[in-house]
Amino acid sequence: MILAIDGPAGAGKSTVAKLVAKELGLTFLDTGAMYRGVTLEVLRLELDPADAEACARVAASLKLEFDAQGKLHLDGRPGEPAIRSSSVTRAVSQVSAHAAVRAIVVAQQQRIAATSRGVVAEGRDTTTVVFPRAEHKFFLTASSHERARRRALELGTPQALEHIRAEIEERDRKDSTRAVSPLVKAADAHEIITDGMSAEDVARALLAIVAGKRA
Ligand code: C5P
Repeated sequence: MILAIDGPAGAGKSTVAKLVAKELGLTFLDTGAMYRGVTLEVLRLELDPADAEACARVAASLKLEFDAQGKLHLDGRPGEPAIRSSSVTRAVSQVSAHAAVRAIVVAQQQRIAATSRGVVAEGRDTTTVVFPRAEHKFFLTASSHERARRRALELGTPQALEHIRAEIEERDRKDSTRAVSPLVKAADAHEIITDGMSAEDVARALLAIVAGKRA
């Protein structure tokens, strides 16, 4: 079974996807982590994130693997926490916009799903491009204020709220307006606006829809 969840930055997709994957006994697939991994390596090699060819070469040669906890490893080295650093966060939308990078990363995501019993995937194009035939599709969103508030709490920096909000809005703009696989809500996705809901509330809502569809 494939359950795909898309939505903008900070909508809580990752926390919710983990809860749902655990409940259903499926593999959690964090597709954004893979673009972050490629970006980390591009920056480590001091390549230009705007250089499509260089980024695609990195994507093709880098071994991206998830461990049993769903954490990314790059050529056998742990990707966390470096893939979450602010330098990676700032550059990732540029790297992920290259068609050649996406073709490589998407093929790997589809391979992971094909070799597992089922996945709960989350990202920007999992409902539209990676798994267009997913059994269950969701679009999670929230106001940018709410998303920034959650991110600030996560990072332990409530004083940086406005700065985080500006960064989130900028990343949303880039991810939604790029030419290849922009972030859009799939016509057949259930939209859940998560302002005022906890991750547990959202996971329960998703699971109820999944159960209802199966009944
Ligand atoms: O989900 P996360 O915030 O970790 O994603 C990081 C970035 O990776 C996004 O801002 C986007 O540029 C890219 N991404 C993507 N397609 C996906 C998942 C993430 O382009 N399916």
